[in-house]
Amino acid sequence: MRHTDDVRRRKVAVLGATGTVGQRFISLLEGHPWFDLVALTGSDRSVGQRYGDAVHWLLPSDLPRSVADMRVQATTDPLDAEICFSALPTEAAEREEAVLAKAGHHVFTNASTHRMDDDVPLVIAEVNPEHANALGLQRKKRGWSGSIVANGNCTAIHLALALAPLQRAYGIERAVVSTMQALSGASYPGVPSLDALDNVVPFIGGEEEKVVAETNKFLGGWDGRAFTPAGIIMSVHCNRVSVRDGHTETVSLSLRGSPGVEDVKETFRSFRGRAQELKLPSAPERPIVLREERDRPQPVLDRDIERGMASVVGRVREDPVLGMKFVVLGHNTIRGAAGASVLNAELCQAEGCI
Ligand code: NAP
Repeated sequence: MRHTDDVRRRKVAVLGATGTVGQRFISLLEGHPWFDLVALTGSDRSVGQRYGDAVHWLLPSDLPRSVADMRVQATTDPLDAEICFSALPTEAAEREEAVLAKAGHHVFTNASTHRMDDDVPLVIAEVNPEHANALGLQRKKRGWSGSIVANGNCTAIHLALALAPLQRAYGIERAVVSTMQALSGASYPGVPSLDALDNVVPFIGGEEEKVVAETNKFLGGWDGRAFTPAGIIMSVHCNRVSVRDGHTETVSLSLRGSPGVEDVKETFRSFRGRAQELKLPSAPERPIVLREERDRPQPVLDRDIERGMASVVGRVREDPVLGMKFVVLGHNTIRGAAGASVLNAELCQAEGCI
């Protein structure tokens, strides 16, 4: 067991710090026991400004005073930070992240740019921590002294976290998933209010394909040379609904061995991973929280359980078509984005991968 007292403190930067995910990074890094926030980057719109003036702060907690007075830098400026937490939009991530990794920074990204690269680990600390071992090959192949570790899409992270214990215990053959995704998943200001209110939008560009590919990468293996996808056959329907934060997903699936409802519930309840073993600072005590009430989980009641770092599962029951079904809910900007990156950085630091 590692002790957090022994860990070397590291300087960190947040890239794309004024946005929806960037703000979450700032609130999660305040008072972090291992990481010191020393740099913030933004687009041309905010470079050179005081962060407190550049940002439209949207979180209920106050903007930390020390951060408000920091100057926003360009992502291309020299950054005095070993770790870069990236909340960059895709195009900026494409331009900047590999350059930073080549210059020796360890980039933990939320952008989709590198998620499916064959030498970039897509990691959930409790699900596939061994994928971080791909960083050795990544550095060798690309000639980088730094690295890139990717987060999945916010919907895929919560789906994979919920599926992981079932995949381990039984094996999953196929799954049908329908999502009800929050507005904050579309960044800020996101979906225009007249499209969102009183409405469900049954299309999120590229999302269904990402959820299938990323879930199979998360739940697949790393054999020391390549990632091997899990091979789960999936049908995914993604919908945008008028919820502020928290993605809800209904899941029907066929499991090998046809376990009963009580077995599946106990598998969810008892699930723990490497993040809990190592007692990482951002690890939730329970990565999956099982609710027994017949009408839970609900975004407004359950998204902040375990500081937004858990996937909340409920309504586990038999499914006449595929065998088993349940609902999973998770916070999209905490465990679905910034919180997952901070936990991945803690994992990589504790395991000596960075
Ligand atoms: P966002 O609210 O639009 O924020 C992106 C920020 O990036 C903007 O505030 C902008 O800052 C900044 N930016 C643009 N170009 C830049 C550059 N060249 N250098 C530095 N900063 C730059 O988007 P978001 O929702 O936070 O998403 C960020 C990333 O995370 C995206 O890749 C997204 O796909 C991914 N993601 C989002 C979620 C979610 O739930 N929202 C979940 C998972 C993953 P200025 O204010 O300075 O213009």
